[in-house]
Amino acid sequence: MEDNEDKDNRNSNNINQPIQSPIESTNKQYQIASSTIVASTFAHRLHEDRNKNKKYTDNKYRKGNNNNRYNHYNNHLQHNPSLNCLQKQHYHQDNKKRLLYQDSLQQKTELIFRPDTPFNLIDFVGGVDYTPTNDDGVIFNRVVKFFRDLTTNIEQEKKILDFSFYLQEDQDQRFYVIIIPSDPTRHSPYKTLNCLSCDSNSETNRISRLPYPTTTREEVSVHHNLWIDAKARPMFIITPKRHIERLSECNDQEIFSMFLLAMQTIEQETRLSNAKWKNVRFLRMTLNHGNARNIEHLHLKIRISHKDLKHFKNYWDEEKKNNFKILESGLYKRDERLTKIS
Ligand SMILES: [Zn+2]
Repeated sequence: MEDNEDKDNRNSNNINQPIQSPIESTNKQYQIASSTIVASTFAHRLHEDRNKNKKYTDNKYRKGNNNNRYNHYNNHLQHNPSLNCLQKQHYHQDNKKRLLYQDSLQQKTELIFRPDTPFNLIDFVGGVDYTPTNDDGVIFNRVVKFFRDLTTNIEQEKKILDFSFYLQEDQDQRFYVIIIPSDPTRHSPYKTLNCLSCDSNSETNRISRLPYPTTTREEVSVHHNLWIDAKARPMFIITPKRHIERLSECNDQEIFSMFLLAMQTIEQETRLSNAKWKNVRFLRMTLNHGNARNIEHLHLKIRISHKDLKHFKNYWDEEKKNNFKILESGLYKRDERLTKIS
């Protein structure tokens, strides 16, 4: 699975600006799960958290001031005499869109959602041993409602279809989701000969697929596949078995299972490797939409540190280690079944 999270974290400097109105929970019963766009005091704390993890916070896209942007734009045309008229016209159009987008970022801020009651993600989904029979529906419903409210707010009310979706935990392990509208001029995902997630004949598909954690029950595994990253980066990937492209297309079971399986995966790696740290930790989960993603099939990327991956790998069996080596050797790029066709 491809990753564009660094590329798309473009307007993270905007978090100190006033944040738009909260999503109201209309049902008292589920108040606990209602989404809230957090006030700027939280944004300050978030900013501090991000600085601790500079790799994810560097804003490569918006360096420099407006003048520099316009100069770059003019210089590009001047120094590219080879551009023909049509290309110049496209370039003008693209840049107009891009500049409008950048200007809009001056007023707009990224959107932050968190449950009304702070939760770490693993508790929010009821723990790795979650069973429906032990839940009177409260846990299941709060998870589904949180993500449904979020997607309804973003896609239907704000009409944003292209966005980066980051789920992270703060210092106190309280999770929140950041939505960042993406640059409208960014290219949509390239089509490939076969969908990596759906094409079980692809060697990359076979080699990167992982067995489910022992804590994963059938009602969860029936909805999703679990993978190690096909490019051998430190992340696990979860994809719905159905070829769908948006979280809003998921049914309730698929929404709940996706985040429960994510936590079961990290928890099992942590437990089986006798890790010294007790918490189930990850750097970030990414679930990009529209042109913010590079692969069409909806995929949740669970990013962990290189250090944690190295630790987990020490406890992997030979088959898992060998498969990872094959992926490190660049199988993904060599796989002809995944050739880009547009
Ligand atoms: Zn697919």
